[in-house]
Amino acid sequence: MQEHTDPWDITAQLDELRTQGLWRELRPLNELNGVTVRAEGREWLNFSSSASRLVCGTHRVHADLEEALADFKGTEAALTFSSGFAVALGTIPALMGAGDTIILDKLCHASLVDAARLSGATIRVFPHNHLEKLERLLQTAQGRVLVVTESIFSMDGDAAPLREIVELKARYGAWLLVDEAHAVGVLGPQGRGLAAALGVDQQVDLHLGTLSKAFGLSGGYLAASRQVIDLLINRARSFIYSTAPPVHLAHALGSILNLIRGEKGDALRAHVLSHAAQTQALLSEIGVTSPPGPAAILPVILGEAPRALEVSARLREAGFLIPCIRYPTVARGSARLRITVSALHSAAQIDSLGIALRERLEPHG
Ligand code: PMP
Repeated sequence: MQEHTDPWDITAQLDELRTQGLWRELRPLNELNGVTVRAEGREWLNFSSSASRLVCGTHRVHADLEEALADFKGTEAALTFSSGFAVALGTIPALMGAGDTIILDKLCHASLVDAARLSGATIRVFPHNHLEKLERLLQTAQGRVLVVTESIFSMDGDAAPLREIVELKARYGAWLLVDEAHAVGVLGPQGRGLAAALGVDQQVDLHLGTLSKAFGLSGGYLAASRQVIDLLINRARSFIYSTAPPVHLAHALGSILNLIRGEKGDALRAHVLSHAAQTQALLSEIGVTSPPGPAAILPVILGEAPRALEVSARLREAGFLIPCIRYPTVARGSARLRITVSALHSAAQIDSLGIALRERLEPHG
């Protein structure tokens, strides 16, 4: 394997900001009481309320949540944003620009695609999970190179071959961003996601996640090295120019993170994965092949949009809410039902879904 110098040269970028007097850092407040605030052992009169995180909006609780998320993901630091979408839009253009190359899996989420476009970098796309094509793109990529994938794909429920992708990105000196929106909370030790489950989390440069799925609230995070997070604090526009998430939200997210990491989280994970396996078995009985899993997303690919709409409507009539996913969210001709199982379903409820599906998937008559 070749030795690579830091192609992003983040140290130099941070030094330049310092030299120009443009360096920004977060200064957490401990207490807000009307117009007085407490931090760093003293009190101030606040003339900067209702602000973004950098102006006056960082509370100790935000910093605690970010430290806990970094610890959870095994990185030096983490930064929270108002949504997972905002994480992508802020992070990718902060790191990549004209002359660089972003290589995305064809099925990457819209937020990753839009962020790549916004960055001005050259965009290359490889067919879903196609390692040979990814390698060919890596061989010809110019500038700084970022590979972007999801770990569990949102509309297919299948997994990226992260071990192989990590090996490839290291061989070509690229960085890797993994969106674990659909894996965190559900997979891996303590629910840390698929990269952790496969033992390659330390090789992932940028861990992206949402706080709206397994966490059940809203927000998103990017976990990475301290340097990357410092650069994002200074460069990620969706972070800098957006009001801080409410302190109560950060507080609640911290409690949920403890739950996810603990025994209760283990029990919920066991339930949701057993429900996924049960659903997979029921689907296979009616001739529907599911991705090998393990994931809580199980698609039933039906083909043309009108057919998928019709089956979804028939299931709705029967009392089952299963969304119909169509173009442009998925490719034309691959409209589908997207089943997501929960830890809270009962085995009997899943059986009833199996019966309903069997009946409604049959043609009219
Ligand atoms: N990435 C993936 C893979 C997603 O499915 C979603 C949500 N649909 C997001 C990112 C965006 O997250 P959020 O809803 O927090 O903006």
